[in-house]
Amino acid sequence: MRYTNIEVYKRQNMIEVNRQGEVWVFGEQHEGRLEDVPIELMSKGRRLADTLGVKLAAAVLGDDAKELAAKLIHYGADKVYLVEHPLLAQYQSNSYAKVITGLIDKHKPQIVLYGATIVGRDLAPRVASAAKAGLTADCTDLQIGNHTTAKNGDTHKNLLFQIRPAFGGNIIATIINYDRWPQMATVREGVFAAAEPDLQRRGKIITEAVELSQRDLPLEILAEQKRPKKVNLKAARIIVAGGAGVGSRDNFSLIRDLANCLGAAPAATRAAVDLGFIDHDHQVGQTGTTVRPSLYIAVGISGAIQHQAGMSRSQKIVAINNDPDAPIFGIAHYKILGDLNEVVPKMIKSVKEKSIKEEKTIKDGQFLQR
Ligand code: FAD
Repeated sequence: MRYTNIEVYKRQNMIEVNRQGEVWVFGEQHEGRLEDVPIELMSKGRRLADTLGVKLAAAVLGDDAKELAAKLIHYGADKVYLVEHPLLAQYQSNSYAKVITGLIDKHKPQIVLYGATIVGRDLAPRVASAAKAGLTADCTDLQIGNHTTAKNGDTHKNLLFQIRPAFGGNIIATIINYDRWPQMATVREGVFAAAEPDLQRRGKIITEAVELSQRDLPLEILAEQKRPKKVNLKAARIIVAGGAGVGSRDNFSLIRDLANCLGAAPAATRAAVDLGFIDHDHQVGQTGTTVRPSLYIAVGISGAIQHQAGMSRSQKIVAINNDPDAPIFGIAHYKILGDLNEVVPKMIKSVKEKSIKEEKTIKDGQFLQR
């Protein structure tokens, strides 16, 4: 592989601190379809932009991406920078980094947000390096706030607080960047909820010209192969998750059984995945999927900060644990203190009995109606 033109998009100076700068979201698309995460970021970006009193913009790159630009406006963008070129049809590190760096250079946004996807994780650090800016990966929250430096007491107003677990999850760090702008962060899918689109919303689409040649594409993509995920945890309304406390791969059938009779998706902690109880597609947390179901049942899960990062926004949390001091109880709405090997079979039995009763009532009802 020859990176002949990697220097092309490198710049000498960072952009200056620009308090009127817009908030940007990278409008990641794949085969002409917007990914979920830029849509989720639009709702958070909208709130950040409103707090700062600036415009929310998206940057979308592709071969034919006008429809995507319009969609981003429906999801909250005031403006969309649209860059269309046949060589942008598929993501490539060099070409995309060159275009985004050029746009940042020209328009000087104060904040740029990317999805922490395979593409975002490749693109954002390249742009950060080229733009001599900072970047915080895998943020679990973003806020606007002021910071006074300990060194000279200067107060920097309206900075992007880039919040994420750090030092192995022992702390939640708030990372700021007051002088190397734009302030940039990546956010994993599911961390923020997508807003409903407003199809009446109007915004500006700004078409940007770009010069690209084959020299900007050191790779030739011959084919793409994607392994489909075994479970769509993000879409599940109910999740039953098991942790290391479940004890063994065989005993994990308790989690699957409870999930089955509730019509729920089975999930797990990283410890349970590492122990081989279930595969990684089912992992919830900082390095797994971020979920926000109506009901999350945590079984034999201690509630480490990295696990909470992926499930604490669930509407209702039920925790089953035999340790009264387990941190999961700190965020659970319903706490069941006991041995999961006794509690879970009872739950399965009572759900089954309830559904038999309901079935019987319906059958009787049908009988009476006849
Ligand atoms: P444990 O912490 O061992 O907890 C087991 C629990 O089961 C205990 O609370 C115990 O009281 C209870 N228990 C035991 N027996 C029973 C019983 N018979 N009945 C009832 N309760 C019982 N973790 C994630 O989950 N997702 C991530 O994405 C993730 N990413 C990480 C990223 C990094 C960078 C790091 C450093 C760590 C990450 N972790 C992640 C790991 C995380 O720190 C914890 O180690 C993990 O979540 C612990 O899993 P657990 O709760 O299943 O196991």
